[in-house]
Amino acid sequence: MKDKEKIIARIREKASKRLKELESGKWYKPTEGENIFRVVPLKNDKPPYTEFFVKRAKHFGLQTEEGVSIAPECLEFLNKEGLLENFLDEKEVRKVKKYGCPVCKLIERLSSVDQATASRMVARESYDIQVYLPDTKSFKIWSVSRKIIRALLAIQKRKQTAMFIDPEEGILISVEATGTGRERRYTDPVPDSFDPYALPDDWKERCYDIFYKDNDPRILSFSELLRLIKINYPMVKLYKTKKKGG
Ligand SMILES: [Zn+2]
Repeated sequence: MKDKEKIIARIREKASKRLKELESGKWYKPTEGENIFRVVPLKNDKPPYTEFFVKRAKHFGLQTEEGVSIAPECLEFLNKEGLLENFLDEKEVRKVKKYGCPVCKLIERLSSVDQATASRMVARESYDIQVYLPDTKSFKIWSVSRKIIRALLAIQKRKQTAMFIDPEEGILISVEATGTGRERRYTDPVPDSFDPYALPDDWKERCYDIFYKDNDPRILSFSELLRLIKINYPMVKLYKTKKKGG
């Protein structure tokens, strides 16, 4: 009996520790049921605040050598957005401009032999927004679908809720979540109340900079991606090397 109590105590201790970790992380994980939040303007925007999301395009299906799943940004997407130079040095930028995104190339190569894997890896569009949670008084980053962005833009389009992200005039937003994991679905976010709910005065110091930053761990260079692809798909030859002697 004593042993069982000890085990239970250990499990509970571990659970509360993991819960704490989950809460303290910078990623927002809405729970099943109703979730209330404030949308935070982009840190670098100036009043009147209008910008609140950053578009991203990520490749899924790669792992690090430690077996950790990662979703690196599509370099072709960054190239189109004119953002490559923000992250990669001249040499790496030249490689992307010449050879394209290595993961996109991998998808092209895989598509003839493993269509299912190839389709799963195609760069998926997502959006980063930042939310302030009144319950825990914390700032979190939330990676959302186009559906959520469309609903938030609809709120911004309405006269009485146009300033919904304004630090002082902004309002609380509510979203309903059902299911977990891949079954997770969200209702369209709607105003929870029309009463202004001000952000903390020091919101700019406390919130994150979700616009593409040079230390964004989700952006890997051309060479880093090549190295990872070699680990994940050692059989695939990405780029044909020039034949000697023509
Ligand atoms: Zn790509």
